[in-house]
Amino acid sequence: MDPKVPDAHLHLFDLESASPGSIRALAEEEGSGRGRRRASACHDRAEFEATEAYREAGLSFELSFGIHPQNAVWDDADFLAALARSGRIVAIGECGFEFSGDRPEWTRAKENEKLQRAVFEFQLGVAREHGLPVVIHQRKALDQVFAYARELKALPAVVFHSWSGPAREAESLLARGIRAFFSFGTPILNGNRKAAASCAALPDDAILLETDAPWQAPRGERHCLPAHLERVLAAAAALRSVAPETLAEPVGLNYEAVFGAVKALG
Ligand SMILES: [Zn+2]
Repeated sequence: MDPKVPDAHLHLFDLESASPGSIRALAEEEGSGRGRRRASACHDRAEFEATEAYREAGLSFELSFGIHPQNAVWDDADFLAALARSGRIVAIGECGFEFSGDRPEWTRAKENEKLQRAVFEFQLGVAREHGLPVVIHQRKALDQVFAYARELKALPAVVFHSWSGPAREAESLLARGIRAFFSFGTPILNGNRKAAASCAALPDDAILLETDAPWQAPRGERHCLPAHLERVLAAAAALRSVAPETLAEPVGLNYEAVFGAVKALG
């Protein structure tokens, strides 16, 4: 049985580039009643418009738009605000912090921190103004997230995409009154111990699942694909000692609570 658990985070445009034909295949799947809900993230205007057009191919999905901290530029700030106003997005993100140090602009230098904070604050302001959830990307920046606890608490939901922090940090965010959801993907297949421990420990009403397709390939694969969500679901269910169908139910409700509640303003 396919429990059709929703995919809380992927990149449809990047997926089609990495694996051409994916959009048509997903649309066919949906046409034959085997589709699932999914939330696709976009980070610039051209990508957003191309992704939105996939609906004409018969594919349904929720859309988010954010200024990604890996490319913290202001170019699309007005576009983001306009999308939020028009109801064309159901969430803002990915947004957040990238301090992995893998590139010079991703180190924790003063000017990088200042820029990433400014871009994040702008997006929190837009989210608050329009009552939108945010999807957070953070690497080596949990202290920054905690520093914004008050602002995050004011939002309808905060999704921590590809969560691989310790369970106690996740619990501490929840304890501060943030409507936080922790989304687990292929790291739990690839032996990330912190992600696995969090996935095992957090309450049912705080869990989402994602592929991040085409990124974060399961070990031995070239790309992560939408169908890999079934492997993520099986692994998450095993970590929680429940059947996949049992876990699929709260994950589906959580997805609806985060991405389904936003009303288009027209
Ligand atoms: Zn992503």
